[in-house]
Amino acid sequence: MSQVVLINPPIPGATPALKVPPLGIAYLASALRNAGISVKIIDAPALGLDLDGAARAVSILQPEIVGITSTTPLSKSAYRLGKKIRRDAKWLILGGPHPSAVKGKIFEECPELDFGFRGEGEEQFPQLVKLLLAGEKNPDLPGLISRNRSCEPVPVSDLDSIPFPAWDLLPMKKYRHPLLPGKKIATIISSRGCPYQCIFCDQSVCGTRFRSRSPEKVVDEIAELSRKWGVRQIIFYDDLFTLNPERVIKICRLILERGVKINWKCEGRVNIQNPEMLSWMKRAGCEVIAYGIESAHQKSLDWLNKGVSAAQIRQAVSLTKKAGIKVLGYFIFGIPIETYQEEIRTVQFAIELGLDYVQFGSLSPFPGSRLYQMALEKGWYREASGPAPEEYGETRPLLITDYWTEDRLREIMKEAYREFYFRPGYLIRSALRPRGIIDLIKSGFRLSRWLQKNG
Ligand code: SF4
Repeated sequence: MSQVVLINPPIPGATPALKVPPLGIAYLASALRNAGISVKIIDAPALGLDLDGAARAVSILQPEIVGITSTTPLSKSAYRLGKKIRRDAKWLILGGPHPSAVKGKIFEECPELDFGFRGEGEEQFPQLVKLLLAGEKNPDLPGLISRNRSCEPVPVSDLDSIPFPAWDLLPMKKYRHPLLPGKKIATIISSRGCPYQCIFCDQSVCGTRFRSRSPEKVVDEIAELSRKWGVRQIIFYDDLFTLNPERVIKICRLILERGVKINWKCEGRVNIQNPEMLSWMKRAGCEVIAYGIESAHQKSLDWLNKGVSAAQIRQAVSLTKKAGIKVLGYFIFGIPIETYQEEIRTVQFAIELGLDYVQFGSLSPFPGSRLYQMALEKGWYREASGPAPEEYGETRPLLITDYWTEDRLREIMKEAYREFYFRPGYLIRSALRPRGIIDLIKSGFRLSRWLQKNG
C-alpha cells in the first residue's frame, strides 16, 4: 500500500509514436520520497492502460491520495479517470499545465476533485500531502487550488535542490521517440522558464523567469541515466535549452570530459545563433535541434509575437546544418491573417530550408496563453478534434475562424505533410541515412494511414 499514487492519464484510443517519461510526476515522486512519503507512479500511456486498466491499478494500490497530472488535451481523460477512482482515494488532486492555466474552473469541469495544484510542485506538494495525511481538511499553501481560493504558486528558486526524478518508479524500457529510434530514451529538464512571449505559449507552470540547473548536476543526471538505465538518447524538455550559450557549452564540455556516450535532442530559438555552441553540441552528441519556425511570412511572425525574422530562420537553420546537426522545424497552420495559398508558401519555405523533419500543427489557443484571451474575445475558440497526425481521439482547443474552418485546416495539413514527406528528394535522402529505410517505412506507414483515414 502506498500513501500517494501519481498518474499520467490514458490517451484515449491511441498508441502514440512518442512515449516519453512524465517528468513532472517523476520529479514530484522523488520529492515525496525525500519527505518520507511512500509513492507509486502509474504511467498509463507507457503501460498501454486504458481507463479501466488505470483504475484497476489504483484500486490495487489503495492510496490515500491520488494526484493526476493533466495537459489541456488530456483533461477529459484525467476527469473520467478521476470519476472512476473517486471511491478508491480519500483525496483526489489534479496538477500539471491544465489546472495551472484554468485554476478554479477545474471544479466545474470535474466536481469529484478535492484540490488542484498550480505551477511547480516539488516544494509545496509534499507539504500538502503531509498536511492531508495528518488530518488537515482545509490546507492553505502556495499553488493550492481549493473550492474557495486559488493561491499563487511559488516557483522553485534553486533547481539544483530538487532530487533527480524517480526513474525507478517508471517503466523505463517502454519509452521511445520517432526521431531518435532504436535506443532507450529519457527526458531531462536542465532549465525552466522562458523570457519570450510568443502569443500561443502557455507559461503558467514554469513562468517567464529563466532558471537553470548547474551544468555539473545536469551531466550527473545524464551519466546516471546512461550508467544505471542504459539510456542512449536524451530529450531536453527545457522550454528553451539554448538561451544561455555559455551554459550549454559547459554542459557539452562536461559530457565529453566524462566520456558519457549519449545522443540528444533539444529546443533552440532562431535568434540565438552561436556557431561555437553548435560545434560543441555536435561533439557532445546533439543529433537534432527543434526550432519553432511557424511561418514563412514576417507579418505572421510579428502577429505571433515571435520576435524573429525570416532571415534569422534561414541563418539559424544553415548554421545548424553546417555544424552537422539535424533540424526539426515546427510550423503553425490556421493563422487568422494568412490565406491557404500563403500557408502553402510556408510549406515551400520548409522545403527550401532543407529541414530534416517538420511538424505541422494548428494554431491552438491553450488556456494560459494570450491567444486564448484573444480567441474568446473574437469568438474563435472551439473545442474540436485536432487535425494533425499525432493528435488523438479527444477534442482540444482550436482557433476556428470563418476562413479557417476545421475542414480547411484538415485540408492544409494533409497537403503539407504530403508535399514535405512524400517528395522524391526527401524519400531518397531519408533512405540513405543509417537505419533510413527502417525509419522511413515506419514513419511513412504511420503517415499514410493518417492520410488515408483523413480522406
Ligand atoms: S514558444 Fe518557446 S520561445 Fe516562445 S515563449 Fe514559449 S517557450 Fe518561449
